[in-house]
Amino acid sequence: MDALMTTWRRLRHFVLPLHCLLCGAAGAEGIDLCADCAAELPRNRSCCKRCALPLATPAPLCGECQRRIPPWDAAWAPFRYGWPLDRLESRYKFGADLAAGRVLSTLWRREPCPIEPPQLLLAVPLHLGRLRERGYNQALELARPLARDLGVPLRHDVLQRIRRTDAQTELDALGRRRNVRGAFALRAGIALPAHVAILDDVMTTGATLAECARVLRRAGVSRVDVWALARAPGTRSE
Ligand SMILES: [Zn+2]
Ligand SMILES: [Zn+2]
Repeated sequence: MDALMTTWRRLRHFVLPLHCLLCGAAGAEGIDLCADCAAELPRNRSCCKRCALPLATPAPLCGECQRRIPPWDAAWAPFRYGWPLDRLESRYKFGADLAAGRVLSTLWRREPCPIEPPQLLLAVPLHLGRLRERGYNQALELARPLARDLGVPLRHDVLQRIRRTDAQTELDALGRRRNVRGAFALRAGIALPAHVAILDDVMTTGATLAECARVLRRAGVSRVDVWALARAPGTRSE
């Protein structure tokens, strides 16, 4: 079945023309997004090196990271969470629109990795119940092609979500931190390398990624990086 799907994906571009998922115009540069909509994607070029918070004026660290360093070492988030990326992301995450996921994944793969690649990449896990409802882990599906391109091993069975949490979108910064506390655990008996990165689709306050980073640190990982497709301009809360 997998081989059939791969063949279909390769063939469909010969059969179906690319079309922009946002406005319906012709797709450009091999993806279902037109050149005009692609030009509007908000890049996160000027951002804090430590937490990827978008900055209006370039500075090495944001005010929050100067006051209180986060429990990870470096962050990579090539886009800002805003129009039109937010539209594609919500279709992918909540609307099971896998074509939108493929566009997002390709956009990310085309961004050069600005930090040293890790020895192991982990995607933020979903609780089994939520995974069953959604049918896929949106972070893991973004991580797969990226890991392949960069030649970094990706494991989906190392970090586990042991407690079902409320949707973070409903909560304020403090609520987000409390919500994810104790929600993750490492599978016993797995040796971890010194440098690990954790990937999520969107990073807002960083509470989820911070909790995962703490779990890895407690297990002796010396460098933990956080990767997200997009950074929302949320205040850190970890
Ligand atoms: Zn368009
Ligand atoms: Zn920062």
